[in-house]
Amino acid sequence: MSTPAEQHAADGGPAARARGLTKAYGSGETAVVALDAVDVDIARGRFTAVMGPSGSGKSTLMHCLAGLDTVSAGRVWLGGTEITGLRERELTRLRRDRVGFVFQSFNLIPTLTAAENITLPLDIAGRKPDAQWLDRVIDTLGLRDRLEHRPAELSGGQQQRVACARALASRPELIFADEPTGNLDSRSGREVLGFLRGAVDDLGQTVVMVTHDPGAAARADLVLFLADGRIVDEMAEPTAQTVLERLKRLDRARGRLGADGGVQEG
Ligand code: ADP
Repeated sequence: MSTPAEQHAADGGPAARARGLTKAYGSGETAVVALDAVDVDIARGRFTAVMGPSGSGKSTLMHCLAGLDTVSAGRVWLGGTEITGLRERELTRLRRDRVGFVFQSFNLIPTLTAAENITLPLDIAGRKPDAQWLDRVIDTLGLRDRLEHRPAELSGGQQQRVACARALASRPELIFADEPTGNLDSRSGREVLGFLRGAVDDLGQTVVMVTHDPGAAARADLVLFLADGRIVDEMAEPTAQTVLERLKRLDRARGRLGADGGVQEG
């Protein structure tokens, strides 16, 4: 039996796609446009980082692409399936089967062991884990001797590795990571980034990661830069240095224009 990721890899197109993606919070004069007609293709089997100042729309973009949030206008596809317009139940199933999440705060269940946490989404879905795949994920993440430990008995880095294994367990079509290194010391952060990189290179997964850290973004194949709800730039083969320079340049450009895009006086 093929996994959902394999079935949908047959689509050949991008792992996710948005056209005219617009998200506004509130209405009338107090409305905030978090995403302003964004067009984006997330390449399959690649590692994409999303960067931008606080409030630029990174989390909103991720939530809309993952079907965690509704859109105000525009269309979003996950693989070949348009998710805008799906009913909540269909969306829940699609997320469960085809998307993995890694959050800054690990989000592990404290009363479950690492092994139980890893297979929890599959258990909830009533799906049997692919034992061979799971073994590979556990070994890749170096969790073999930690499987019976509960989260409180693990370091932050180990907990995030468990969260990565949980995201990978269903062999999803797409993994979204929201500041996955935000709560980790630099060594554990590098380790987790190495595993996300490995998930792409060795396991053929697709990863989208929101980050503030140029060093983390440098592990990606492509960096998308957001400002004021728009993708304003992108960079292939990033390094920490080139990402930092680009951020500074974008910051200066925004300073000249003002955050709302209007030219500032003086
Ligand atoms: P980032 O992840 O880049 O920090 P967000 O996507 O969280 O940016 O936010 C983009 C904009 O949308 C910000 O101006 C933020 O204040 C606003 N926003 C986000 N979520 C909500 C919400 N639930 N209600 C109202 N405004 C929101």
